Amino acid sequence: MDSRYDIAIVGSGPAGLSAAVNARVRNKNIILFGNAEFSEKLIKAPKIKNYLGLPDITGLQLKDKFENHIKSMNINITLERINEIYAMGEYFGLMVNQKMYEAKAIVLATGIEYTKPLRGEEELLGKGVGYCATCDAPLYKGKVVTIIGYNKEAEREANYVNELVKKVYYIPMYRDKPNLDDNIEIVEDKVLEIYGKERVEKVILENKQIDTDGVFVLKDSISPAQLVPGIAMESNHVKVDANMNTNIPGCFAAGDCVGRPYQYMKAVGQGQTAALNAVSYLDKQ
Ligand SMILES: Cc1cc2nc3c(=O)[nH]c(=O)nc-3n(C[C@H](O)[C@H](O)[C@H](O)COP(=O)(O)OP(=O)(O)OC[C@H]3O[C@@H](n4cnc5c(N)ncnc54)[C@H](O)[C@@H]3O)c2cc1C
Repeated sequence: MDSRYDIAIVGSGPAGLSAAVNARVRNKNIILFGNAEFSEKLIKAPKIKNYLGLPDITGLQLKDKFENHIKSMNINITLERINEIYAMGEYFGLMVNQKMYEAKAIVLATGIEYTKPLRGEEELLGKGVGYCATCDAPLYKGKVVTIIGYNKEAEREANYVNELVKKVYYIPMYRDKPNLDDNIEIVEDKVLEIYGKERVEKVILENKQIDTDGVFVLKDSISPAQLVPGIAMESNHVKVDANMNTNIPGCFAAGDCVGRPYQYMKAVGQGQTAALNAVSYLDKQ
């Protein structure tokens, strides 16, 4: 069993990094989950004109500055994707496949997915459509799986799934050439619909159809409602008060996942507020 952290921060974009820095300043034992690139939305920004004090910076340059900052404070990013978070009373359990991390408080900083769900995606969720390929791949032993990958990270999951199932089709939703195991079939075509009556039967593309038993839709972030069962939402965003409290005591949220405007400085400010209020929450326990 892993040790129990004071605060687990889920997401390594500006909101999560700011929460980590501020919680560390307050001497809390933290764990920060995310990816090596920090945030796709950060590294993709061509020119940032509205980050106070850094009037003419690219997303990559800002990422470097963030990286130097967290390194100088000995903050590491744990390269894991949290699949589900449960409130267990005195603590939270953060699930990564079969593994569980424990923390007394949580800051959700998972960002938001700009793309709309595909036709059939929400209707067939849990009926052959899933968001965590590594969790559910064993269910498809001897079967056909299609992976719709929205980012390069999905390729790693596709290669893993490929070891367990009969056949993998991979549909990239981005321009770069996917780097995949040889026997994965790459399908470069526009997805029109995930189709099935009771369960997934096929993926309908502009130029062809793929018969498939399962579809994994792998995006930057999944809906917080999926991630934290019972969390209150307001349209697509986590509902928070001015202290970044969600409806679940000890669970805070910050950044794009709590609402517009989708901006770096707002994300950073909310990450700070969330962390400081998580610290107060812990101090009262
Ligand atoms: C091309 C582009 C240009 C932009 N330009 C500007 C600009 O000039 N100025 C400006 O202010 N804003 C700009 N933005 C908006 C800005 O990028 C976002 O507002 C900001 O990144 C939000 O930060 P965040 O921390 O809330 O989320 P994100 O930056 O989206 O970070 C969330 C991170 O959490 C990770 N994550 C999600 N779920 C999990 C999980 N379950 N487990 C582990 N990790 C998880 C994600 O992979 C991601 O790395 C731009 C956005 C884009 C796409």
